[in-house]
Amino acid sequence: MYANYHTHTYRCNHARGSEREYIERAIAQGVCVLGFSDHVPYPFPGGHESHFRMKCAEIGEYMSTLQALKEEYADRIEIHIGFEAEYYPLYHQRLLEFLEPYPYEYLILGQHMVGNEIDAPVYCGGKVSADIPWQYARQVVEGLRKGDFVYLAHPDLPSNTERGEEYRAAMEWLCREVKAMDIPLEFNFLGLAEGRAYPCRDFWEIAGRVGNKVIFGCDAHDVDAVANPDTIAIAEQWMAQYGLQVVDRVILHRPTV
Ligand SMILES: [Zn+2]
Ligand SMILES: [Zn+2]
Repeated sequence: MYANYHTHTYRCNHARGSEREYIERAIAQGVCVLGFSDHVPYPFPGGHESHFRMKCAEIGEYMSTLQALKEEYADRIEIHIGFEAEYYPLYHQRLLEFLEPYPYEYLILGQHMVGNEIDAPVYCGGKVSADIPWQYARQVVEGLRKGDFVYLAHPDLPSNTERGEEYRAAMEWLCREVKAMDIPLEFNFLGLAEGRAYPCRDFWEIAGRVGNKVIFGCDAHDVDAVANPDTIAIAEQWMAQYGLQVVDRVILHRPTV
C-alpha cells in the first residue's frame, strides 16, 4: 500500500493508540504516504459537540502534535494532516471558516448522515429505508461539487437496505457524477475487515461498469488496521473481480473559503 489518507486518532473517542504507533506501523508495512484524517471538529451553533469527533477546543493540539511528528519522521515517511468531514449544507461555510486558520492539508468526504446530525439525523451506516440512498447520493454529489474534498470515503455507506432498482439507480448516478468530477471513490477497509454492509458488491459492480477511480482507505481506528496485509489481499480480489482501477495517491488541496 503506497498511500493511506484515512487514519483516525483517539480524539474522536472511538479510536485507540498513539499517532506514533500508527506511523511506526505504516513504515513497517512499507507505506510511503500516511494521512491523518480524524473526524473533524464541527462548530455547530449553540456549542453542540458530537460524541464521535474531537472537540473544537482540541484542534490546535491535533495540529501541533501531527506537525511535530511530520517533521520528526520527514526522512522516513510523508505525513499529511487532514480531516474526515461530512457535508452539511447549512453549516459547511461555518466549518470552513473555523478550519481556515489551521495548517491542515485536505478534507475527505465521509457522509455518515443525511440532513445533518443536529437537526434530524439519519445515520446511513445502519439499516436504512429505501429512500435514503437517493438522499445520500444527492447530498454527497452537492458536497463534492463544492470542490472542497479530495475523495469520497465509503461511498457505499447506505447499503444496508433493499437494493432494488432505486438503490441501483441512485448509486449509478452517484458513480457517474463523481467520475465526471474526476474524484476517486474510497474502498473502505474498516467495513471490509468488520464485515459491514459496505463495501457492497452491488455498488462496486456498478462502479466497475462506470469506470470509477478507486483509492484504498484503511479508515484506521486502531494500529492493526494500518495497511493490514490480509485486508489488502481481499481488497485486491474485489478490484480484480469488478475491473476497478486503483490509484496510488491523490492530489491534496485545501478548500478555498
Ligand atoms: Zn470513526
Ligand atoms: Zn473514517
